[in-house]
Amino acid sequence: MIEQIVQKVKDAGVVGAGGAGFPTHVKIAAQVDTVIANGAECDPLLRCDQQLMTARAPEIVEGLRLVMQASGAERGVIALKREYTGAVAALQSNIQYPIPNTQHQGGNISLHLMESHYPAGDEFVLVYEVTGRLVPETGLPLQVGCIVQNVGTLFNIARAQQGIPVTHRLLTVTGAVNEPRTMNLPLGTPIGEAVAWAGGIKIPRWSERTEEDYAVVVGGPMMGRLAQDLSEPVIKTTTGLIVLPRNNPVVRSLSRPLGSWVKRGRSTCDQCRDCTDLCPRYLLGHDLEPHKVMRSINYGLTEPTAIITAAVLCCECRLCEAYACPLGLSPMAYYQEIKRQLAAQGWENVVHKRSDLTPHPMREYRRVPMERLVARLGLSEYQECTCPLDEREYRPRRVTIPLKQHLGAPSQPVVKVGDRVQCGDLIARIPEGKLGANVHASISGRVEVVTGEHVVIAA
Ligand code: SF4
Ligand code: SF4
Repeated sequence: MIEQIVQKVKDAGVVGAGGAGFPTHVKIAAQVDTVIANGAECDPLLRCDQQLMTARAPEIVEGLRLVMQASGAERGVIALKREYTGAVAALQSNIQYPIPNTQHQGGNISLHLMESHYPAGDEFVLVYEVTGRLVPETGLPLQVGCIVQNVGTLFNIARAQQGIPVTHRLLTVTGAVNEPRTMNLPLGTPIGEAVAWAGGIKIPRWSERTEEDYAVVVGGPMMGRLAQDLSEPVIKTTTGLIVLPRNNPVVRSLSRPLGSWVKRGRSTCDQCRDCTDLCPRYLLGHDLEPHKVMRSINYGLTEPTAIITAAVLCCECRLCEAYACPLGLSPMAYYQEIKRQLAAQGWENVVHKRSDLTPHPMREYRRVPMERLVARLGLSEYQECTCPLDEREYRPRRVTIPLKQHLGAPSQPVVKVGDRVQCGDLIARIPEGKLGANVHASISGRVEVVTGEHVVIAA
């Protein structure tokens, strides 16, 4: 039974839907005592998990039960924000019954309701909030007996058991669009079409702006990135698209090059240490003190001391840059570059693996309320929108499906130009012996292009 669950998840190409894209069949094969469904959706403005939990609670609970069965977990917890009242009610009514033909008699799944703080959905933070356990530095929840799965992933796991592969992505399209909404799009749909499906870019009548004065953030405003162009495809990990004026603080931050961050840091960092005092990993007891990396780099001390290599502890939540620093500096940009250089040097982490962690005594009082973060990001005017679920089917004329939408090796195409495929057909498989995920056709049509990077299908 366990092998069957894992195999079906592998066949269906399920990957972590929360952003990282780790192949799910590998993650759920571990043995743990607790499975946590992550419905925290901590990045501002994103609503896809909230909408999914409200509309598809039975499948999410079923997915959670399947992961509990596969991993031998006795306890399942669905963590979500208290303010998601519709989702809370829907989940509550689905968690009470037992699992047929297993030892699970019901009552072993509960809800964990959270206040709206950032970054509530970070795995290390979530595991601590739900279980009181501290994941070791650079470790995995598995090391403390937990699996954390995004609710979207659980939905896909439940569908995988019915033989339905991952062909679509539920995502929020919001910000400066005419009809912000949450929509289910075939993988490979160009993001420009997604924005058009949400009514297109909303330009105020009195404004002299044109569409060129707007940018699209792929993902959330904290953990996302700027889209290169509107032909970029929607993939399995696309949580949202946020259209913003180019003068919005989020766009300005995401488009600032490293050199500019360092120049600003060198001239203005006053070592106030606010970045450290609010860093969620520091507050969990990790040896991560971003004000010290500012000091080291700004004074030219770049040898790989523990202060520098502590970059591997940074989860890139962007809180230091976007909220904590009163001068608008970015320790995270320093850490990102250090991580890149350490990886290029083949540096092996044997230092930052502490498990004797003690959370900071002030941690509880230093959590960042979402409302204040949203205001700081210049997003208050978009925050109230619930981005209702749009059940209509969108049919793109052409999709470009990347062969790498996950962590691991790119999948290998099993189709050739001219083949006719149906939605759900396998078009690329995991290379033998490698970490990866299968890829399926997201529309029915004719294969137009096959490269080592993507498959194009025209309806
Ligand atoms: S919060 Fe800003 S100014 Fe203060 S130490 Fe950190 S980077 Fe420097
Ligand atoms: S991005 Fe900044 S606040 Fe977030 S973990 Fe890294 S150093 Fe800490």
